[in-house]
Amino acid sequence: MYSAESRIIKARQYFEERDERIRVESLRCTFEGEHSSHVIEYENHVWKCDCEEFLRTFVCAHIMAIEKTLGAGVSPAVKPDVAS
Ligand SMILES: [Zn+2]
Repeated sequence: MYSAESRIIKARQYFEERDERIRVESLRCTFEGEHSSHVIEYENHVWKCDCEEFLRTFVCAHIMAIEKTLGAGVSPAVKPDVAS
């Protein structure tokens, strides 16, 4: 049985190893942008944001900030393959 202290040590270790251990499967959050709030969704490695930049380019500063926060647990935002 874990003591509180060993649980904290384990959590620190997991945090250090987060890129290998955590895979985000789906996510929905709001992001307080400079001018308004945005809804961001991530499902099956695909990002969505309701901001104008994302609608034009399929990537935006809001998603990039969340990618940086979550590390390797998420796939990068990419333009969908329109050829398929
Ligand atoms: Zn955005």
